[in-house]
Parts: sequence; structure tokens; C-alpha cells
Amino acid sequence: MSEISVSQWHLSEELQLLTEFGYSDLDMPYQSVGVRSNKDIREPETHSDVRVLEVIATCLTTGKPGDVVAAAFDKRGNIRLVLAKNGDVGSTDYTATRTFISDLMIANDWIDLLPFLVNHSKTNIDKRISGLHRSITDIRSTLEKAATEYTFESMEKEFPRSDDYRDIMYVGKDIPTVARVLSDLIQECINASDFAVDEDQQSFMKYVRLVNVAGILRDSRFLSELISDPNRANWERIQDTVKLKRRLGKVCQYTRIRQLIEKVQRLPDVPFEWVEESFADTGEGEFKFCMDPMEAVGRVLHRQLTPKEIHEVAERFPSLSSNWMGRRFYPRIHAELRIILHFSPPLLSESLRQLPLRGSEQLPIGCSKRSCLCCVLWIDAFNGRTGMSWMTSGSHGKPYANWALPGTAGEQIGAALRGVDGQVVKGINTRLKDMLAWLNVKGGPKRISDERASSGSESDTSEHTGEMRRARLRAILVGDYAAIPRPKEQA
Ligand SMILES: [Zn+2]
Repeated sequence: MSEISVSQWHLSEELQLLTEFGYSDLDMPYQSVGVRSNKDIREPETHSDVRVLEVIATCLTTGKPGDVVAAAFDKRGNIRLVLAKNGDVGSTDYTATRTFISDLMIANDWIDLLPFLVNHSKTNIDKRISGLHRSITDIRSTLEKAATEYTFESMEKEFPRSDDYRDIMYVGKDIPTVARVLSDLIQECINASDFAVDEDQQSFMKYVRLVNVAGILRDSRFLSELISDPNRANWERIQDTVKLKRRLGKVCQYTRIRQLIEKVQRLPDVPFEWVEESFADTGEGEFKFCMDPMEAVGRVLHRQLTPKEIHEVAERFPSLSSNWMGRRFYPRIHAELRIILHFSPPLLSESLRQLPLRGSEQLPIGCSKRSCLCCVLWIDAFNGRTGMSWMTSGSHGKPYANWALPGTAGEQIGAALRGVDGQVVKGINTRLKDMLAWLNVKGGPKRISDERASSGSESDTSEHTGEMRRARLRAILVGDYAAIPRPKEQA
């Protein structure tokens, strides 16, 4: 086994142990990774680019396991879209991207992209719909109970920009109370999320309707108040509400295609490329875990575990052994790192002798999924050594055994970059040692939800105004896809 293969094998085992222990870096005391979103430090242009790039990446992922897409703009000369994915790039990726861009060029609104999205990204859309359905069904009685103890403000404060929705929903009925509107919204969200998308207009309508209801509930004061509840006794309710809000945001994320349409239609065309470089001496390949996870734990601690320790760990994580035994894994360089490895040599070529650079501009990357723990550690180390400012929108802080060390792919950019991989290895090793120390104290870790993995949680308030919005709503509520006015037809 080559040196990098040994490092990769040990790293992947450590990452898998952390996964088995339910680890996430969020809310942990380590520097830099414990943030879900870096919105606060983004410059305005970075912020707008990240959001647009995230939508592009989300639209281009199929949603199948491991199919993560990353996107960046190459702004040297005419703007160019650069795309990468965790797996191999194939001809279908090029076809999908061409179709996507040509649909964007003639679209009037995000809903015009639905035929493409349902065709290309059905798995992802269905995952988002069913995730929302599960989440809101699970939390429903909690929300209803919370509503009985909640002091409602005016309709406008509770449900901003919802007057058209209410006018149409309650036409010919008595004016509803605020509490009633909330209860109806929850029910409506449950009903509207109980389906899977198909390539027909009826199905598109169902999705548009879901987005409509989900957007109002996501922006409601009620959910915000529950989330900002200072009472730690309500911790579980807060977490569940955060999760619900994130899932509401995820089904609504496609409405941001509007900003993308505006952006691309100002350009004569949108040239794109998929990063297809293959790098030598990386941690990519096929590996196999050892037979006994305790052996891997022993390697981390540089000692054999006592029978008592083995018993304690096995008791706390009963499926650890069966999940582990001799399992194969296939680490790949993650999409966001492929973008960085592709761009950095030319960007750095003139400055290699004077690393690190000072005060360089932010370089945003949009991903179909938030960055994992190792990607954030690697990007941090890379930025630290080069002075560059690569950033994705945030991290879910979770470890993945299938994360591959870039190895010499990173190092060949410059001698100063040796050791970037090592910083990741060290960071993971420290976390695992701390986790093991913590496990030996008392109490088990709380299982950390996968749902931190999403992008698309930020609120998008740029809905249309006035008559246009009402006309859209009417068409949505009667289920007529073709009749939905698109913004550009307004003039
Ligand atoms: Zn990653």
C-alpha cells in the first residue's frame, strides 16, 4: 500500500467511527467548522453568487446517492460556469446542463423549469417533498399544542405577504382567526406534500401549490418565535422546528431560479465546463475496513481496549460491529475540492513564490448539499496556506468515510501546500480522540440529524406583488398550470 493509501484507510476508518458515534462538528468548540452558514461574513457579491450557484448545483444534481454537484463562476474574461461532481462526469451531465441553460434562456419564471427539473432531478425533489411531509406530520401535535399557549399578533405580522393567499383560500367564508389560518396552513402543508412528482402538468401544479403554502408557513412569525424560544426545556421542540423550517426552505429553493433567469438572460450565452481532471496519487480507490471496529479504535488510542471498554462501547452502539465488519468503501475527491483544485493553479501561478497572498477576494462555490466536515477542514487549511478565500455557503459538519484525500493533487499546486491533507487528518484524529474520551465519561451522544445537510434554508422573500401574485394564486388553486402568469408577461 502506498503512503497515501495507508493515510486514507486510517482516515476513512476514523471518519466511519465518528459517523457511528453520531458526530457532527456543529455546536462543537473547534475553531471555524461549527457554523451552519457563513452568511454573516459574505460580501454582497459573494452572497448573491453563492445563492445563484447553489441553485444551479441543486438543479443539476439528480439526487441519487453520492451525486453531489458544485458550481463556480470563472470571471477571468467572459463569465463561464465551472461544474464538478463527486462521481464520474458522463455525457448525460453535458446534455442535462445544455438543456438546463437553454431552458433558462427562454424561461419567464421558475415554474418554466419544472419539466426539466422533474425529468432530471426527480429523486431530489421527491426527497425534499417526502422529507417535509415526514417532518410536518411528526411535529404537528407539538405545533398545535404550542399554538394553544402562543400569543398571536395581527394577521399581517404572523403571516407576512399572505393576504392574497387568504383572500382566495377563504373567499365566501367568514374571516378566519389567526389561529385558524395557522392550523389550516399546517393541514394544507401535510396534504400538499403527500405526493411524488411526475412529468405532467397536474403534478407541476401540485408542486407549485406546495411551494406556495410552504413559503407562507416558513415565513410565519409563529415558527420564528418557536425557534428563538430561550427556554432550554423546549430544546427538542426548537430543534424539530428548525428542521421543519429547513425542509420548508428546501422545497421553496427552486423559486430562486428567478434570480438565475435574470442573471443569465443578461448574458449572450453561458459557456460551461465540467471538471474532468483525473489526479494522480490521491486517496481515491477501493478500501475495506478491518473486521473489528475495536481494532480501529485501538489504532487511534495507540493501545488495546480493555474488555470493559469494549463492552461499554458495544452496549452503547449495538449496530457498530455489524455496520462495520469488512465493509468496502470508495473514497472520492468531493466536488467543491475539485473546483478548487481546478481553479487554483492558474490563480496562484503568478504568486507562488510569495505565498500566502494577502487580502484576496472571496471565491464562492455553490453546492447541491452543504459541505462536509473534511471539506471545510481542507478548505480552511488550503486558504490558510495560500491566502485565498474559497468558501461554500456553510457546513453540516458531518464526517464521511468516502471523503478522499486530494494528496499530490493539492501539493502540486505549490510546495507551500504540503501538509494541507495532514491538517485534515490531524483535525479528524483530535475529534475522534475527544469523542472517545467523552464516551468513557457518561451518557451517550445525541444522534445528529441528517437534515443539517441541506442547502436552501434561507428565506426568499422576493415574491411578486399585487395583481400578478393574485392571478398566480388563482391559477394555482384551480390547478391550471398553463394559466399561471409568468412575470414577464405582465408588461
Ligand atoms: Zn465534502
